[in-house]
Amino acid sequence: MTDLDLDCDVLVIGAGMGGSAIAFQLRNSGLRVLVVERGDRLPREPQNWDPTEVFVRKRYRPNERWRDLRTGDDFSPGVHYNVGGNTKVYGACLPRFREHDFDAIEYPEGVSPEWPISYAALEPYYAAAERELLVHGDDADDPTSPWRSSPYPFPPLPHEPSIAELADSWREQGLSPVSMPMGIDLRDGGACIRCGTCDGFPCSLGAKADAETSFLDPALRSDNVTLLTRATVVSLTTKRDTVGAAVIRHEGAQRSVRFAHVVLAAGAVNTASLLLRSGESPHNGLANSSGLVGRNYMVHNSTFMVAVDPRRKNTAAFTKTLGLHDWYKPSPDTPTPLGGVQMLGKLQTPMISAARPYVPKPILGVMTERSMDLYLTTEDLPSANNGVRLHDSGKVGIEWTPSNLEPHAELTRRMRTVMRTAGYPLVFSERMGIETNSHMCGTATMGDEPSSSVIAPNGQAHDVPNLWIADSSVFPSSAALNPALTIAANAMRTGDELLAALG
Ligand SMILES: Cc1cc2nc3c(=O)[nH]c(=O)nc-3n(C[C@H](O)[C@H](O)[C@H](O)COP(=O)(O)OP(=O)(O)OC[C@H]3O[C@@H](n4cnc5c(N)ncnc54)[C@H](O)[C@@H]3O)c2cc1C
Repeated sequence: MTDLDLDCDVLVIGAGMGGSAIAFQLRNSGLRVLVVERGDRLPREPQNWDPTEVFVRKRYRPNERWRDLRTGDDFSPGVHYNVGGNTKVYGACLPRFREHDFDAIEYPEGVSPEWPISYAALEPYYAAAERELLVHGDDADDPTSPWRSSPYPFPPLPHEPSIAELADSWREQGLSPVSMPMGIDLRDGGACIRCGTCDGFPCSLGAKADAETSFLDPALRSDNVTLLTRATVVSLTTKRDTVGAAVIRHEGAQRSVRFAHVVLAAGAVNTASLLLRSGESPHNGLANSSGLVGRNYMVHNSTFMVAVDPRRKNTAAFTKTLGLHDWYKPSPDTPTPLGGVQMLGKLQTPMISAARPYVPKPILGVMTERSMDLYLTTEDLPSANNGVRLHDSGKVGIEWTPSNLEPHAELTRRMRTVMRTAGYPLVFSERMGIETNSHMCGTATMGDEPSSSVIAPNGQAHDVPNLWIADSSVFPSSAALNPALTIAANAMRTGDELLAALG
């Protein structure tokens, strides 16, 4: 071994939600855990809350382009390569998936498959993840809420007046507005000031419960867990039917890490790309006897809806407290679930002007001062034709044809009517495209059968016994809710499964 070589018991690749949560779960095991992360610590600086820096200049986004394999065009993916991964800019909205999300659901265009684990198997880990992520919530008004073994760690966030007014209007329309569960530090002495720069921005105060603050930093307090930043895993090398080492690029040098077990948590696209780049046959990759590595890529059908009443301002700063799940569950009214609705973080002019450069800024300013900003999500169905491919250009290639669009269109139509009835005569909506991939999942799905899945229900690769996956790649379906809490809970469960496998 040279000084460029490293050695550990468990190598975790990626310090985002999945990687940080499994490192946390293994922190007291006595195993030497090394977390390698291609990015650095994201600095706390004035630019954290500057919408022009964050949305126009894309200060925290990598200078990386992926290729849309359908059109041949390149795009800037919504990824963040830093300690904490995408959670450094996430909205910290942390719902549990519902019980029926783990069952098969029939849609006109196909089936959202059953998971090999039930909600009950994940429930204790949901509770543990909510504690670490300081989740504030209350399910009392939510017609879809799953059972819980313990109450939310913290009470729900009250709505600010203009959001409360909107909730009242939804109630008057016969709907059931719900309080969205949020992971922010509003404990006694907590640093959160409920500002308008949470969703989409890094937190200058460290008051957002993200993967770094809630899982990785606590894990690093154990002597057994170490972090290597600016270290990109390039490939994994195999020895008979196991993986034995990772080749990493670290500050210009090539290094090698030897390990007993490796946990991939590089995010759904990079985890699949790494597997496809590894193994003995290029492009077929590692752990891929099923041929499913990189396939079944899902991202949610999502629409941004901006509803404006020119006569009144939206005075709320922290808007993301309200949601609507009336059409989330199959019911006689909606045999096909339509999805969920929640507020976006408050839109600011530079955030829209990046997408609408031809609209004069003063007009956008008037609009964003008055707008209610909503985020509509509908399940995207898995398809073997959608996925990640290694492109000859060296770029990551994404093949994505969205599915299940009619239920999403129906959700959009219903919400347009709801918002007009609530007194917002101008309602603009736009369905997001391939570059809005923040909820990506499904590229190495978990299942019982090695022929139809990549990962066993315990998180271990069917083909390679010392390879585990702890990010959203393993999701068999996308559900239609924000994924981060489920990623954290499943990564913690996978940590326990890894320890159980070691005896
Ligand atoms: C603007 C925005 C808002 C969001 N809001 C919410 C929300 O409110 N609620 C919610 O539930 N979800 C939200 N999400 C989604 C959520 O952040 C992701 O689902 C979650 O972070 C994914 O976790 P992960 O572990 O799969 O990947 P990530 O968190 O992306 O972590 C992957 C990590 O791996 C590293 N990496 C990649 N390749 C390599 C390599 N080869 N070698 C070493 N390291 C590597 C990356 O740098 C990264 O740090 C949001 C996302 C965005 C972008």
